[in-house]
Amino acid sequence: MSESSFERRLKVPVTNLQKKVFSREKITVYLEARAGDEGVVFSGEKGEMKLEAWMESCPDGIRVKGRIEGTVKVSCTRCLEEYRHRLDIPVDEFYRRPGLGAAVPEAGRLRDAEVLEDDDYVIHEGTVDLNLLVNDNVMTGLPIKRLCDQACRGLCPKCGKNLNQGDCGCADDLIDPRMEVFRDLLERYGRE
Ligand SMILES: [Zn+2]
Ligand SMILES: [Zn+2]
Repeated sequence: MSESSFERRLKVPVTNLQKKVFSREKITVYLEARAGDEGVVFSGEKGEMKLEAWMESCPDGIRVKGRIEGTVKVSCTRCLEEYRHRLDIPVDEFYRRPGLGAAVPEAGRLRDAEVLEDDDYVIHEGTVDLNLLVNDNVMTGLPIKRLCDQACRGLCPKCGKNLNQGDCGCADDLIDPRMEVFRDLLERYGRE
């Protein structure tokens, strides 16, 4: 998978910061982003998603504490149309210096593979990768049900038309799916 220039913008060099413990540096990044099944995908700079955070140098790593605000594009779960979902997510993550294990497994309790999986927030080649922080926090901060509007009417189950754009005309001969059970029973046992 090739890396976009926007993803590179979120790789912040921290070598200087690390030289002085407890020194801080503020970072503000605006990006245009979309969130979906594939996670958060960036499509432009100066977008409506804002990450503002303090990066603090600690003896064993870098703490990143701040907020993700603004909007991110998502698809409505009912009508599938894209809309801008408002975000206000506090973030607080810790990027460890490589070689310092945060979770030292008790002998025999965790296998190596499981430890490695937990090893994502690590300073890599003198940079912290904030893509990870944005992706994790936005994806867990978004609700499962994302509605373009609380009153979104969704799609017609018969013809697929977006009912927010007007009626399709097939609503009349639709049968409530709960009633179909009774119709089947009637057909089977009703005429003897
Ligand atoms: Zn909708
Ligand atoms: Zn229809």
